[in-house]
Amino acid sequence: MDNSTLIYFLNQYNDNSIYIKRDDLIPFSFGGNKARKAKLFFEEIEKNKNDYVVTYGTSSSNHCRIVANIAASMKIPCIVISPEENKKVTFNSQMIQLFGAKIIYTKISEVSDTIDKTIKSLEKKGYKPYFIQGGGHGNLGTQAYINAYEEIKHYEQKNETFFDYIFFASGTGTTQAGLICGKLLNCGDETIVGISIARKAEYGRKIILNSIEDYFNEKKLEISKNDISESTIFIDQYIENGYGNKGEQIYKTIKNVLINYGVPLDTTYTGKAFYGMQQYIDKNKIINKNILFIHTGGTPLFFNDIGEML
Ligand SMILES: *Cc1c(COP(=O)(O)O)cnc(C)c1O
Repeated sequence: MDNSTLIYFLNQYNDNSIYIKRDDLIPFSFGGNKARKAKLFFEEIEKNKNDYVVTYGTSSSNHCRIVANIAASMKIPCIVISPEENKKVTFNSQMIQLFGAKIIYTKISEVSDTIDKTIKSLEKKGYKPYFIQGGGHGNLGTQAYINAYEEIKHYEQKNETFFDYIFFASGTGTTQAGLICGKLLNCGDETIVGISIARKAEYGRKIILNSIEDYFNEKKLEISKNDISESTIFIDQYIENGYGNKGEQIYKTIKNVLINYGVPLDTTYTGKAFYGMQQYIDKNKIINKNILFIHTGGTPLFFNDIGEML
């Protein structure tokens, strides 16, 4: 698997060996999990010969930046539907602009209406639009992280290093659904822990369970509900005050990881997840384990934050 992203040893933490998988280094548009997912969506777009892309996300969305970039590179026009409540200028929103995507602002309460109307109006004009859900949610997004899971298994075999835990930032839960599907399909025995960056456990976990079931239904695979449920650990103790909100501890974690290991984390996703991972290790008194942290990207967000870290 030549396209596997890099995995390497990062540091010792409470006598655990922490490894990192650098999905932020996927070589397109600053990488990240949205790049891994978008690649599969655009393969389908090419296959279906769609001539318009419509997606959804906020002005800080990594997903929209990558979708707008790939669309521009393929000369396919792109519309980004975005909540007007969250209109601040970020490096991602500036890039979306640079890629020539058309941004339609709408009230959060009217998002799904606006999506429907936009798609219908494009169809009326004779286009064949393709809609990508916010964050690259859906079975193809799940597939992207089944593939990532298989890269991890490949690394383990090759290096005779086996992971006891996998941690990462969980938002829409698609990344997590993919990793769990990968584990169930490959009979993995590591513990997969999603650190929620915004959603409360009950709701966030339900969405992940639905995503996993959707995927297995589509593939006509029978996996026990009990196994799925037991494999789904979604921790909401480190969301601080919700999406994009962060405390002093997150900044401290980001500075520490950047200064000592040269790895940029951001306050919305990977910084929260890295901090949450350390807390989880402390709290559960985990020692002498091999632990993998997946860096899910968001590098432009790192640059948005840097001024506040000085
Ligand atoms: C979107 C995103 C996540 C969350 O991924 P989901 O699949 O939505 O759970 C994590 N990290 C970064 C950097 C992201 O952009």
